[in-house]
Amino acid sequence: MAKQLRNIVVTGKSGAGKQPRIDVLCEVFGLTQLSTGNIFREYLGAYAKVREGVDAQAFYQGDGFAPDADIQAVLAPACAAAGVAPGAAVLGLKAARYVDGGVFVPDDITNELLASAFHAADGAGLVLDGYPRTPDQSRFLLALVEQAGTPLDLILLVDNEDEAIVARTTGRRICPNKACAKVFHVQYKPARDGRFCTACGAEVVQRSDDTEAKIRTRLAEFQNKALPGVRVLQDAGIPMVTVEGNLPVFTDEAVRASVMEALAPVLEA
Ligand SMILES: [Zn+2]
Repeated sequence: MAKQLRNIVVTGKSGAGKQPRIDVLCEVFGLTQLSTGNIFREYLGAYAKVREGVDAQAFYQGDGFAPDADIQAVLAPACAAAGVAPGAAVLGLKAARYVDGGVFVPDDITNELLASAFHAADGAGLVLDGYPRTPDQSRFLLALVEQAGTPLDLILLVDNEDEAIVARTTGRRICPNKACAKVFHVQYKPARDGRFCTACGAEVVQRSDDTEAKIRTRLAEFQNKALPGVRVLQDAGIPMVTVEGNLPVFTDEAVRASVMEALAPVLEA
């Protein structure tokens, strides 16, 4: 095996096909996926276990949050009872303020959550997914890895045309039965009679996030925020390789081959 990779950022438009590439990186290099979606779920979950019955007023000062120590003191008894780390509950509380309100989580909160999860994972052997998504997050990440004395080896960009993503995503239908959750596509993988799950028979639905308007908003976000963030990493000397999101033949072997081919120059360097 050539050079060992320790930390990788995987980026690309929402719906570009990042997950199959992440799977390859985790398998070949023994890395662990650290995705912002999972990080948020974890910390929100920690706070959810202790929020019942606590007086939220104590958490705020003016427009901002009270000092962490003050918040922890209020949450401490509930944390002890529920077996939740107080630090995790505080982070979850901060995220919940925005997520509950359905508003954009500010970079400083996202950065705090990411840093906590990064350190919990020993700061190495990670595939970052969904982060960084802004130039500020990229600058924070560069400082974080420098402080941890760990490398950021490369950026893997999964490239896909906007129109291909729109067609693929708007055509997606899912089985609403949570135990099944089979995924279909109106054109490429139709449900039975175009309506029913082939596994459990439930009537398939379109996810509320899969409408064209929402996809176009996510595509614009990538263009206007995430890509400039990627450029911050490149300017700091992190190499970037690109793989095609659409392959002529989409098999596990083809995905793996295209990732390894793209990585070859970096692995040999
Ligand atoms: Zn089903």
